[in-house]
Amino acid sequence: MHARIIDGRALASAFRASLIPRVEALAAKGTRPGLAVLQVGNHPASRIYVQNKVKACVETGLRSTQVELPDDVSEADLLEQIQVLNEDPQVHGILVQLPLPSRLSADRVLQAVAPAKDADGFHPINMGLLAIGTPRFVPCTPLGVMRMLERENVRVEGRHAVVVGRSNIVGKPAALLLLQKGATVTVCNSKTPDLGDVTRRADVLVVAAGRPGLVASGMVKPGAAVIDVGINRLPDGTLAGDVDFRGVSEVASLITPVPGGVGPMTIAMLLENTVLAAELSVASTGRT
Ligand code: NDP
Repeated sequence: MHARIIDGRALASAFRASLIPRVEALAAKGTRPGLAVLQVGNHPASRIYVQNKVKACVETGLRSTQVELPDDVSEADLLEQIQVLNEDPQVHGILVQLPLPSRLSADRVLQAVAPAKDADGFHPINMGLLAIGTPRFVPCTPLGVMRMLERENVRVEGRHAVVVGRSNIVGKPAALLLLQKGATVTVCNSKTPDLGDVTRRADVLVVAAGRPGLVASGMVKPGAAVIDVGINRLPDGTLAGDVDFRGVSEVASLITPVPGGVGPMTIAMLLENTVLAAELSVASTGRT
């Protein structure tokens, strides 16, 4: 078997295009969806991520505001800046670029974002809504994974899905979304004794461990759909996922590459969450 490769860039581009009519409908009501991206310090990788997000906003007709704060910003000043954005009627979505310097409490910062503007879906209220099966803003990467599976007609209901990783931003919400779609879900973590024994039973395998090459071909069920969320910078500077792409392509029926797989979908979902926030804001207040 040779797996079909999911083109995340093309899918993301189609998703962004599908948002344009929603952006236009909001414009007709006098609202332009706005995303504020808040970055602390000058981390080079974060800078590239932020630039990519701003570019995607502009291309899709969203307003984007970039707020850059110095590396030594106090937590009080950062929280105050978030409050300003919470109260700004032109800002519908707020994203705090992670990672934050370790002296700042990411939990406190993320909880300061108004739940109604939580474009990243990390606020405990939105995580709670997802957990009880009534999601509102869902974390962008797992949402992108689900949209990919839908678009590729991968049946989830009644099948065994295995998620490798249990982080709050990828693994856990991915597991909840798969559960909501009727999959039987197993979640693995670094203490899972025999990872291959579990992953070999997956019809749908989502890997988000941050360990290059963790999943080898012998750990995958023939015909499985394999979604590689991992993004790892190798010593030679290239990017690799958590899955041995070449080997697993010979076994799986469907696979995502790294780069060009889940990454572009994450940005598309950020825009979707911002558009949704603007729509909900208009519906609740009738104004921008
Ligand atoms: P975290 O480090 O927060 O979580 C990694 C998870 O993987 C943990 O739950 C950890 O277990 C688990 N894990 C680590 N090693 C193993 C192992 N050997 N076997 C089983 N489980 C293991 O990472 P994130 O969830 O934030 O990100 C995961 C990957 O996804 C990274 O490569 C990151 O760069 C990438 N990523 C990609 C995005 C995209 O847009 N494509 C967006 C976000 C992340 P434990 O909890 O026990 O430590």
